Amino acid sequence: MGTEFLKIVGVDEAKEIIENLFRESYEMKSENVSIANSYNRVISKNMDAIFDLPPFDKALKDGYAMKAEDSFGATEENPKILKCVDSVKAGSFSKKTIKNGECIEISTGAPIPNGSDAVMMVEFSEKLDESNDIAILKSVPPTEDIAKKGSDIEKGKLLLKKGTILNPMKIGLLSTQGIADLSVFKKLIVSIISTGNEILSTNEKIEYGKIYDVNTNLIKGAVLSSGGIPIIKGIVKDDYNQLKAKIIDSLKSSDIVICSGGTSAGVGDVLRNVIEELGEVLIHGIAFKPGKPTLIGKIDGKIIIGLPGNPVSAIIVYNVFIDQYIRLISGLSEKESNKRKKFKLAKRIHSAKGRMEYLLIEIKNNEAYPILKDSGAIASLSYADAYIKIPKSTEIIDVGETVEIILL
Ligand code: AMP
Ligand code: MG
Repeated sequence: MGTEFLKIVGVDEAKEIIENLFRESYEMKSENVSIANSYNRVISKNMDAIFDLPPFDKALKDGYAMKAEDSFGATEENPKILKCVDSVKAGSFSKKTIKNGECIEISTGAPIPNGSDAVMMVEFSEKLDESNDIAILKSVPPTEDIAKKGSDIEKGKLLLKKGTILNPMKIGLLSTQGIADLSVFKKLIVSIISTGNEILSTNEKIEYGKIYDVNTNLIKGAVLSSGGIPIIKGIVKDDYNQLKAKIIDSLKSSDIVICSGGTSAGVGDVLRNVIEELGEVLIHGIAFKPGKPTLIGKIDGKIIIGLPGNPVSAIIVYNVFIDQYIRLISGLSEKESNKRKKFKLAKRIHSAKGRMEYLLIEIKNNEAYPILKDSGAIASLSYADAYIKIPKSTEIIDVGETVEIILL
């Protein structure tokens, strides 16, 4: 077994290697999904309006369709009287054509009858007893309370651009067009493996010296938020053959394999040797705290990632080095700048000189609170909102100094 980190790189170099690896290993592919399952998916083609919206001139209010000119001069004291010749509810339409002196009772959403150019709100009308006569109490201009055909969206116009992330409002817009399914970017499938003789799954009974598996579900959530499809592959002992078999099996059904634990250069740390046998190790060791024991490799054109076993380190490494690239391939990539915000620091930070450090941060009362426990303190994870980057040359950041946080 190896006893040292072989391929230590700096943070920027690691990002460059990983980005290139993603770009050469995966391409953005499309698939069809039903609109009911399109939430948070990314459309992979420009989409144009299939027809005008509204598809016909339609009433915006309940009232009477009429010729606007017939209302001119009408007031409550001096109403105009029109003859009501038909009634039309939403979903049907009137075959009649309105002439001067006539109106048609109309419901919101119904098509405007021929001959009319305005809708008089029911509130400004009065039905005269026992007759079809309607008193009009107000003067309205032409187009009053009518939504013209195509005024919302014109047929053929761009509805949504390629790359748009589908939120509920955008899904609503697609629904207006009767779109049943649509083309979206395919998600990357990510296998998740936890390793370690001490790791138990939650359905096992706790024993002295053992701990429950945090990373499987931690990383699963992270993969979901990056737009990937996580597959839980379970826990493997620090055993070369078991790990090798699990990785071979995982590679069959996924695009990426993420392991955690066993990535250092100690006796039980077998992942590097497995990757070396099956493929190629590109990074072993990234020069920053708390992610030094990180492995990046490639097997049969697929990326294999070894995160440090410590959950705090694992999530930081995932966020700094993996999240953005899974997003990129899934079409979800948002501008890094959207995730960056500036806050004042609420507590002094000491950092070792000569080493790059990433530190979890809690945002409270508009201030950044560093989570200052050592990286083994897992309870701190649940407070974390973001992380900050402390450069090599910085030893102290004082209370009140502005720090740039990157949201998790
Ligand atoms: P390793 O990277 O295997 O040396 O593990 C570093 C530390 O993280 C050890 O204290 C492990 O017990 C712990 N650890 C490793 N994997 C997990 C996991 N899946 N869940 C929780 N803790 C873990
Ligand atoms: Mg271990």
